[in-house]
Amino acid sequence: NRRIVLRNHVTGFPKESDMELVATGTAPSRVPEGSAGAVLLKNLYLSCDPYMRSRMSKHEETSYVPDFVVGEAITGYGVGKVVDSSHPGFKAGDYVWGMTGWEDYSLIKDPSKALFVIRHPELPLSYYTGLLGMAGFTAYVGFHEICAPKEGERVFVSAASGAVGQLVGQFAKLMGCYVVGSAGSDDKVKLLTEKFGFDDAFNYKKEKDLNVALKRCFPEGIDVYFENVGGAMLDAVLLNMRVRGRVAACGMISQYNLDLPDPVHNLMAVVAKRLRIEGFIVSDHYGRYREYEETVARYVKEGKIAYVEDVAEGLENSPAALIGLFSGRNVGKQVVVVATE
Ligand code: NDP
Repeated sequence: NRRIVLRNHVTGFPKESDMELVATGTAPSRVPEGSAGAVLLKNLYLSCDPYMRSRMSKHEETSYVPDFVVGEAITGYGVGKVVDSSHPGFKAGDYVWGMTGWEDYSLIKDPSKALFVIRHPELPLSYYTGLLGMAGFTAYVGFHEICAPKEGERVFVSAASGAVGQLVGQFAKLMGCYVVGSAGSDDKVKLLTEKFGFDDAFNYKKEKDLNVALKRCFPEGIDVYFENVGGAMLDAVLLNMRVRGRVAACGMISQYNLDLPDPVHNLMAVVAKRLRIEGFIVSDHYGRYREYEETVARYVKEGKIAYVEDVAEGLENSPAALIGLFSGRNVGKQVVVVATE
């Protein structure tokens, strides 16, 4: 059994050396005595997610997720197979997704709170780290509930080729919206328009002035902004929102490695344009996940959704894959394969 442990709390940009692979003895095969209600999982796929950066720091006050503990296995979303179970809701052989450890095998003590049994194992199981799991449900809830979109509205998505962004764009197109995305390379921009069906896209790293880029793509302004990056992009978007526009504050990845966050200069636009900016955390909405799983499993089978994942091979490569999110190395949803069966 191997695990990835946090070696030290992190400040600034995370490094591979902040984590290490540790061998911890032989592979377990049973839920140990005294762990009633637990399941033993063999981890198959791990999800690399930007919020994990926050958990690598030491916080004075607990945020909505606890900090990682130095010397212990990193935890995060993943897909696994139940090896043994002493919980009536899970049986050996079930495939599950949810909170697990960055290790070959994990003992999940309270599985009904941490895991969902996968109802469509006939689809690629790795999809449950993204499209059919947390990131996809984030895109769905964030777009349909927080953005309150209407057909024909003009929608802008940042970090648009990533796990969440590629799906927000497609959900918006399915609703009949006009959709533009930004991403950090020309290849990603091409993906947006050619694979995911965005109406337009731009490489934010090549634009001298983000305000000018947004005016070019949205001469009449933006109704809905799906916010993934924060910082200078948010400031430029505020200048381009239409009256009564809505901003779903999903994340602000450009701020996660900064000691001092960037200032936002154009907040007065919120008043002048009667904007609504609303943050949300996907886990508050899991009560509706099963509805999402059925809807999107059907979309996948009908070929209504395109999906791109970036797959790293092996637990030992998970630290590099996680860190890559913050330089835009990933093209699509970043997944790590630990084992295939
Ligand atoms: P992605 O798959 O989009 O990967 C992260 C991407 O962010 C990178 O590929 C890179 O793309 C972009 N990026 C990295 N650094 C910067 C920067 N400094 N400025 C601008 N862009 C940057 O990640 P996810 O789709 O998983 O997550 C997207 C956002 O959604 C994140 O902010 C995340 O925290 C948030 N989130 C929030 C949830 C919630 O419950 N509220 C749940 C899940 C995610 P590029 O090459 O285009 O720069």
